[in-house]
Amino acid sequence: MEYVKNLKCTNCGETYEAIPDKYLCDKCGDKGILDVQYNYEKIKKEWSKKDLDKNQEQSIWRYLPLIPIEKESKRPKLRIGHTPLYHSKEMGEKLGLNNLIIKDDGLNPTGSLKDRASAIAAVKAREANADTVACSSTGNAASSLAGNIAAMEEEMNAIIFVPKRAPAGKVAQLLIYGAEVVSVQDSYEAAYYLSDDAIKKWGWYNRNAAINPYLVEGKKTAVLEMAEQLKWEMPDWVVFSVGDGCTIAGAYKGLYDLKQIGFTDRIPKLLGVQAEGCAPITKAFRTGNDLEVTEENTLADSIAVGSPRNFNKALNAVKNSHGEMVNVSDNSILKMMKTLGSTTGIFGEPAGVTGLAGIKKAVKKGIISRDESVAVVITGNGLKDTSNARKAAGDLIEIEADIDKLEQVFGEKGVI
Ligand SMILES: *Cc1c(COP(=O)(O)O)cnc(C)c1O
Ligand SMILES: [Zn+2]
Repeated sequence: MEYVKNLKCTNCGETYEAIPDKYLCDKCGDKGILDVQYNYEKIKKEWSKKDLDKNQEQSIWRYLPLIPIEKESKRPKLRIGHTPLYHSKEMGEKLGLNNLIIKDDGLNPTGSLKDRASAIAAVKAREANADTVACSSTGNAASSLAGNIAAMEEEMNAIIFVPKRAPAGKVAQLLIYGAEVVSVQDSYEAAYYLSDDAIKKWGWYNRNAAINPYLVEGKKTAVLEMAEQLKWEMPDWVVFSVGDGCTIAGAYKGLYDLKQIGFTDRIPKLLGVQAEGCAPITKAFRTGNDLEVTEENTLADSIAVGSPRNFNKALNAVKNSHGEMVNVSDNSILKMMKTLGSTTGIFGEPAGVTGLAGIKKAVKKGIISRDESVAVVITGNGLKDTSNARKAAGDLIEIEADIDKLEQVFGEKGVI
């Protein structure tokens, strides 16, 4: 890791050597979330946009100088990242925007942005000589960890703790990828604490993103990629849905890195979007008070995090970017799934389209204006949760195989 200086506590500033299984600050405990520090001067000297132009690697590993792994470490044999970016005029029009950019991260190998972090977790676990990696997750972190561990071509195991409500598609993925799955008959928070106890008891590698300082470094590759795809012309806003807060924190880190090494000249405003039924970070953002644990009352399961552990990093990300936070209803999330799918052909899961629903609200509230450019990341694939999708999707025609009946129904529905 020739460009990594150390790990720095975001609470007290203490620094630590960047060893693969260092998680929290020794002095600050749970509050002592660590942040990877880079030698930007050295990166600036030794890495250029031209180097990137010549680089044939089509995955997150093209950004290796800004990724905290050893160059020679074994990596999962999957194409992580390199997801497409679209300029969608029609979708922009529906949201009241002239310039909307959509990055579809549901096209990662296991169907969500979490692959960017799980790939790092798999590598770091190997660097730490651990053969078992564990995490608790509302679903996507788990399924992506399981997939990335399976792709390591090593004898490695994933042990996963999911809450009772994890959608069937995600649980099916876990089992297919060969993980040991523990379904905790309780909330995400309960699953988190059980995984934490088990990790301590058995000494497994910890893939809980809020604790492990390396994982946000994987998540940030979504914006590194976005910036390169936009030829380093940054939009006015970058939008993410927010659960634990690691994704938006990672986005800020990536945008910050790019500015530090001179690849971009400014950091866009970040819009963080939560579901109304579970919005503790938005509340803390608005009131300036300490975070209050809330219920997890939304169908957007991937962001139903009542007790987010990385809220400080998330709050700092939004504040430092001069951004905003908004909440959206489950109903508007479901509607947005249908609007996005039928307008663009992109199928997002509920948390995957929450950012878009947030844009609509932010435009209505005057936070974002029509002529500002806005980039949003669809964070997860709709096929993971088809039962919620069907609530949003509308009715189909059920009929016997009879052309006359078909003609009659088509007539009634105005299809022909
Ligand atoms: C995890 C996840 C998020 C939110 O990321 P956090 O780091 O929890 O804030 C958003 N959308 C999807 C699909 C996710 O899986
Ligand atoms: Zn500390």
